[in-house]
Amino acid sequence: MDYEVVIGLETHAELSTITKLFCGCSTKFGAEPNTQVCPVCLGMPGVLPVVNKKAFEYALKAAIALNCTINRYTNFDRKSYYYPDLPKNYQISQNYYNLGIDGYMTIEVNNVIKKIRMHNVHLEEEAGKLIHPENAGADYSLVDFNRAGVPLLEIVSCPDMRNATEVESYMHALKKILLYTGISDCKMQEGSLRFEASISLRKIGEEKLGNRVEMKNLNSMKSVLKAIEYETSRQSELLDRGEKIERETRLWDEIRERSVRMRSKEEAQDYRYFPEPDLLPFVIDEKWICSIQETIPELPLERKQRFVETFQLSDYDAGLLIEDKILADFFEECLKEVNLPKVFCNWIINDLLREVKEKKLDITSLKIKPDQLASLVIMIDKGTISNTIAKEVFSEMIDTGKEPKAIVEEKKLVQISDEGQISEILDKVIASNPNAIEDYKKGKKNALAFLMGQVMKESKGKANPKVVNELLKSKLEG
Ligand code: ZN
Ligand code: MN
Repeated sequence: MDYEVVIGLETHAELSTITKLFCGCSTKFGAEPNTQVCPVCLGMPGVLPVVNKKAFEYALKAAIALNCTINRYTNFDRKSYYYPDLPKNYQISQNYYNLGIDGYMTIEVNNVIKKIRMHNVHLEEEAGKLIHPENAGADYSLVDFNRAGVPLLEIVSCPDMRNATEVESYMHALKKILLYTGISDCKMQEGSLRFEASISLRKIGEEKLGNRVEMKNLNSMKSVLKAIEYETSRQSELLDRGEKIERETRLWDEIRERSVRMRSKEEAQDYRYFPEPDLLPFVIDEKWICSIQETIPELPLERKQRFVETFQLSDYDAGLLIEDKILADFFEECLKEVNLPKVFCNWIINDLLREVKEKKLDITSLKIKPDQLASLVIMIDKGTISNTIAKEVFSEMIDTGKEPKAIVEEKKLVQISDEGQISEILDKVIASNPNAIEDYKKGKKNALAFLMGQVMKESKGKANPKVVNELLKSKLEG
């Protein structure tokens, strides 16, 4: 039987604030367990929460960037559930008046633009972290409350995705928006960004949605995609046998690459939601929304389209540039110096990215500056240095942050264009390669390329290739 797969994603992103959502404790990742806690985030009796304005603004910023309608009246609600990493036995979240509702985001799959609707965007607090000892026979677990109370943004999409490719595109696009707006560092390895997928199947042509399964414990984008694949075949096999799909929450087992049942799906009433009595509701005015709107930069997909249209870059090249806002900014800074989009694009996506990868550099703290790359490009353009030498200079610029001019002078790398000097080198190469000369005279064209290579080698890459080529031909033919 053929089924249509229906997928929705719930995304949790930790916001990049310095302090927690309801207290002044640090949110810094990786500290000694239970050193970033206070009576508020430990849920002691009698304490009162105070909302972190920055966190609220970040959430608002995300909701606006995701085209949501902003609920002008909003509040926090208590979501009651018991779990050892939740010291208050409830989570302060939003249920009745989510900050943002009815938004959408555009994704691009095989050059086709698709709109994915957002059900809601809301703000809530993180839980702590349970650590289960790996030594056999351990009959205890440890808990670290450093994470408890870190501001968390939950982004709930509508079930608008139909396959793993769309889901992959959605995850990347959403991550980029969160990074571009600067509201989360999105470090999946530190748990700053987490996805949960709900997956259901229905017969093709049918309108009614099938029972959905919620998949938790997806630690990477790869796990999300694998879980979708697994769940699709598990559910379709059940349906083929005439069995029913139960609404349940399942855990992804990364090692065995399969999902296992965790619990039957809880409903909203199980959480005993009610308005948080310790916090007043919020009324958000137009002025605040406008001032936040102004801080939202051009978003990745729009930026990519502008790069293609304005700079005649290929879709692929523009896609690589906008992959990271830092790269895209770098690119546009270079263009302020000299308008050579394709040239800078090549330097950035080939040379810069290769150096970053090879030298394991942090792209947020590059030593090379855009105006320096522009100077380098101008030096090539003027013939001061050859392309080959420029690569060497570039590598040094990456390491030291020095001006290209200084490196070229220091290392005496200026291109040799003087005919007399080049002629000398040519004579030397011709004298020591009689076989190649003979080959050339017999009509073997690649002998010329070989001789060119020898000259470049002899001149340590400094000979001007154009001059070499002309002189070499005239010497061989003369
Ligand atoms: Zn605290
Ligand atoms: Mn949540």
